Amino acid sequence: MPSQRNYRIIIAGAGPAGISTALHLAQIAPELIPHILVLEKARHPRPKLCGGGLLPDAEVILRHLGLDINEAPHTDVDWAHFDFEGKGMRMRGEKGGRFAFRTIRRPEFDAWLAARARARGILVQEDTCITGVLAGEEEVLVITSQGEYRAAALVGADGSNSVVRQAVAPGKRRGKPRLARLLEVVTGPGAELSPHLQPDSYFDFFVAPHGIQGYTWDFPALEKGKPARVRGVYDSNIHDLEPDMTLREALAQEFARHGLDLADYRLESHPIRWFETGDTFSAPRLLLAGDAAGVDALFGEGISPALGYGAIAAEAIREAFARDDFSFTGYRRRILSHELGKALRRRTWFARFFYSLRSPVIQSILWRRCGPLIEWIVRKWLIGWAGREERKRAS
Ligand SMILES: Cc1cc2nc3c(=O)[nH]c(=O)nc-3n(C[C@H](O)[C@H](O)[C@H](O)COP(=O)(O)OP(=O)(O)OC[C@H]3O[C@@H](n4cnc5c(N)ncnc54)[C@H](O)[C@@H]3O)c2cc1C
Repeated sequence: MPSQRNYRIIIAGAGPAGISTALHLAQIAPELIPHILVLEKARHPRPKLCGGGLLPDAEVILRHLGLDINEAPHTDVDWAHFDFEGKGMRMRGEKGGRFAFRTIRRPEFDAWLAARARARGILVQEDTCITGVLAGEEEVLVITSQGEYRAAALVGADGSNSVVRQAVAPGKRRGKPRLARLLEVVTGPGAELSPHLQPDSYFDFFVAPHGIQGYTWDFPALEKGKPARVRGVYDSNIHDLEPDMTLREALAQEFARHGLDLADYRLESHPIRWFETGDTFSAPRLLLAGDAAGVDALFGEGISPALGYGAIAAEAIREAFARDDFSFTGYRRRILSHELGKALRRRTWFARFFYSLRSPVIQSILWRRCGPLIEWIVRKWLIGWAGREERKRAS
């Protein structure tokens, strides 16, 4: 436990958003490294409910940070299928690419990321739960299970149920909470009875006509070195609808199609906060990143956005120190003008539009007949933002 209690920067949470913020800071302002403290309530490798789907955008950011995903256990997913009741289209993350995306298991991936940050001199203090935040004019006071810490700036990268967020937007709880609902289960491969190809991933939108604004998923993965499937159901919860089936019933129906009984498995749930342009992302001395700020409403894809937020937060912090101005008034503009912010904004828009289409006929036409159009939209507007941002900066 460090005896020091004063830092220039404290980062709440050692998930992808927090560690990415620290790594980007180490890259663009190495003089700050000894002055950064990452506080994490758990201890790596800690459990984290997640499908672990890692899109090429995440790998672009990791490469930019000098990190190679091949160092961490992962699975190459051959094709991503987008179906309605078991039939639809398939695509890969990059046109002509060798795979659709990769899957990682989060305890291993996040522990690897945290170890890389430590290797670059970042102090990551685990078993320290932040319980309160008081942002004053001169500093921010961070109250934790291990005592109090002070910093010039605090980054809230503490996930969907962020404590820092409560200090950034106190009392701003009006309206519908922007939280997607998810259930997840890890099973064996179960190849014998499943209609799914084992190297492929599947998203099935059969739940849409039932008022569940999302899909069921089935990804290949390595669980403790053994082949497994990570399955679940996602409900963006973006419209006020009364579903006529529960998430559990939806997943049970999908399991039955694979010859599995959901009752035999341990179900877990966790929310994802999705991005909304009008949200509050900062306050004087406070910034939000990753799930704490809001990620993808359409698919619930949050790992690459969390890594992307790290770059944006790090730049905002570097500028704050350079100007000695910790108001962070330009942070929303910074997010919205970044290719990540543009992609997240579009995904929220598409989620609102797409999840209003409850007709089974429309869902079936979309996925079974409109494959090339959907693929074009996805590539042009929704993914590939990390490469676009890199090219923008290089030009
Ligand atoms: C079921 C499920 C499936 C998903 N599948 C995918 C997927 O396949 N692909 C994808 O891209 N995204 C997926 N996501 C979303 C993805 O997991 C998140 O968007 C991503 O983890 C966000 O990263 P983060 O660093 O912002 O937050 P987190 O990963 O939640 O990290 C936050 C960290 O902060 C710590 N923390 C929390 N509170 C405190 C506190 N008070 N004090 C100190 N530390 C604290 C936590 O322990 C944690 O380590 C899924 C999410 C769920 C729930």
